[in-house]
Amino acid sequence: MSTSAFPAGTILGYPRIGRRRELKRAVEAFWAGTVDAATLEATAAELRAATRERLAALGLGRTDSAIPESFSYYDQVLDAAVAVGAVPARFARLVGADGTVDLAGYFTIARGEGDDAPLEMTKWFDSNYHYLVPEIGPDTSFAAHGERLVAQFTEAKAQGFVTRPVLVGPVTFLALAKAADGSLDGFRPLDRLADLVPVYAALLAELAAAGAEWVQLNEPALVSESLDDDRARVIESAAIAYDALGAADARPAIFVAAPYGGLDEALPVLAATPVEAIGLDLVKGSLPAALDPATEESLAAKTLVAGVVDGHNIWRGDLAAAFARAEAVQNLSGSVAVSSSTSLFHVPHDVADEQKLDPRLASWLAFADQKVEQIATLARGLREGRAAVETELAEASAALADRASAPGVRVPAVRERLAVLTDADFSRGAYDERVEAQASLGLPELPTTTIGSFPQTGDIRRARARLGKGELTAAEYTAAMRDEIGRVIRLQEDLGLDVLVHGEPERNDMVQYFAELLDGFAVTEHGWVQSYGSRCTRPSILWGDVSRPEPMTVEWSAYAQSLTSQHVKGMLTGPVTILAWSFVRDDQPLGDTARQVALALRDEIADLEASGIRIIQVDEPALRELLPLKLAEQPAYLDWSVGSFRLATGGAAPATQVHTHLCYSEFGVVIDAIRDLDADVTSIEAARSRMEVVDDVQRSGFDHGIGPGVYDIHSPRVPSVDEVRSLLERAVGAIPAQRLWVNPDCGLKTRGYEETVASLEHIIEATKAVRAEI
Ligand code: GLN
Ligand code: ZN
Repeated sequence: MSTSAFPAGTILGYPRIGRRRELKRAVEAFWAGTVDAATLEATAAELRAATRERLAALGLGRTDSAIPESFSYYDQVLDAAVAVGAVPARFARLVGADGTVDLAGYFTIARGEGDDAPLEMTKWFDSNYHYLVPEIGPDTSFAAHGERLVAQFTEAKAQGFVTRPVLVGPVTFLALAKAADGSLDGFRPLDRLADLVPVYAALLAELAAAGAEWVQLNEPALVSESLDDDRARVIESAAIAYDALGAADARPAIFVAAPYGGLDEALPVLAATPVEAIGLDLVKGSLPAALDPATEESLAAKTLVAGVVDGHNIWRGDLAAAFARAEAVQNLSGSVAVSSSTSLFHVPHDVADEQKLDPRLASWLAFADQKVEQIATLARGLREGRAAVETELAEASAALADRASAPGVRVPAVRERLAVLTDADFSRGAYDERVEAQASLGLPELPTTTIGSFPQTGDIRRARARLGKGELTAAEYTAAMRDEIGRVIRLQEDLGLDVLVHGEPERNDMVQYFAELLDGFAVTEHGWVQSYGSRCTRPSILWGDVSRPEPMTVEWSAYAQSLTSQHVKGMLTGPVTILAWSFVRDDQPLGDTARQVALALRDEIADLEASGIRIIQVDEPALRELLPLKLAEQPAYLDWSVGSFRLATGGAAPATQVHTHLCYSEFGVVIDAIRDLDADVTSIEAARSRMEVVDDVQRSGFDHGIGPGVYDIHSPRVPSVDEVRSLLERAVGAIPAQRLWVNPDCGLKTRGYEETVASLEHIIEATKAVRAEI
């Protein structure tokens, strides 16, 4: 085994999409058939090479395994699945004679093809990144395919680097997997640990043979208390896996990283295994207060990688405090390295790219590149003593103090309004009375609707770009959007949908649109982060107290409503989602920030009602996403998140139908919270998990309106009438028809018109058939 020391400073991972989203463009061009695999591979190799050079220039070591090989063409969990040969049976045709999957096959598993649905997708821990869920059954065969891992390490070597391969660890891989279709009841992917570990051992052997000195295995499952598997079992699995992997001698030194929270009771167990380094998230978690002597002894013999620089937010933060935290770890081990708390792929590349940002605000920020510099500084401080980095620490503290006192950070008028809220502001009265008042909406049984957006065509995006460049006047832009709204309204009328939407053409993004219109936010030019696959979002920066200078959506919704006699849903993004999908200030409790946003939305709802809108949807797709991984933190979270939604909607009249929308399949986990939202109708993403959510709904006794999605929008395939019909029949079997709504999943804006229209036609036809049956 390699015996080289762990580097003094490192990061758990780096953005992989490219400073100007080069990977996104190359991957999408490959999908469109305009570039071939070799061209895509070449672009990816260039990006990886540029990343290594950049990280070295920012202060990470070139040849000491400090630079992680954290690239992925689509998703790191899919990468792990392919590396262990766990390809679902329906994609067996994609596996070549030598057992490998080529790039085209890899993307097919991610995106589906024909009747073969892609892997499910779900949120990665408490982040806004989505990973692909591996499917593991009792008979899934595993085989080591380290070709890509080895190739990237070797490519780095040829460039003059010794880097550190990164892979999702075996415990997390299985804990995040779902039982393959046809598995017996009670089977859990973790049952296969003993079969999987030798394959990981083989991968490590391949990497060692290629010259890798350290490998990083990411095991965030070890911090989570919200997995499907019992926590004790997950922890015990780590003991089994790492005892076994550690016992091999043909292997690199093993660094187990545990981002997104404290290891807590998993720490002594991991400490007892032979792994050489353990990564602690000291931003979300903290150092254990007391350790048993055996654990103390084991930890003293390992490298502890102190994740003290927040990888999950964009603030420059308190560098002196981070240094103190890293220093404290030295009490546990003589070998301490500094790192980011999580991979930096949650943050954009470089603040220096943001030339249009107010320089004062920019001085408070640190994106990935600045975080790497901070880490290099802290590592130097640990090595040479605090005095060596005193200037950098003092500069960061000065920026923090400047931020605390800057205008706009605390606005008295906003704070006074929050201070006088009472319980009544959080309630809309009895649901039954609202149902009665809403009967006047005159909706049919199984009403059909969509979740809000319609395809964002090239024309729409070009119009927005031209407005930005000054090539279109505001009036011309408005006219173009109105034309689009008119088309979308007519299309929905022609299709026969019951509750219409305006289609959201004017929105660049469901959060950024509001951020641009609210005080307290700033937007970036290049601050993209990967959401899933080639999808990126550009979170806004919520830096100050939030208020609404003027109405944000009323003109568009009222215009849409003026074109039709059917109801048009007003469309807002809820406070929790606005927070979750922005980079949020870290200088006050999230609940305080959420209530500020809620009051702005509350005023918007009042204005929509006044303009004649009778149905208003407040999207909260991120409600589940921010749920803390630690059980003890969940009640407080649910209290402020649900509370802020209720505050936003609490002023709506009983006759106004409030909808909400949530996007994930694990409905069961937050069902009580969803009930507490007290929306009249909740639509929920469900097609990709084949409507499993209706069972949760039934079990929970949820008794408000519900619309489980019947069309998976993340995939280009059009479901047949029969497929939709069988999903609907499943729903009708579990949920009383008078409470059931029919809608696709969310995000039509990411699709083209062709598949959108075809899918909606099928949905309407299937609905008619099911209506006739009930
Ligand atoms: N109203 C949004 C849309 O239809 C909701 C998106 C989402 O849930 N992510 O695009
Ligand atoms: Zn959604």
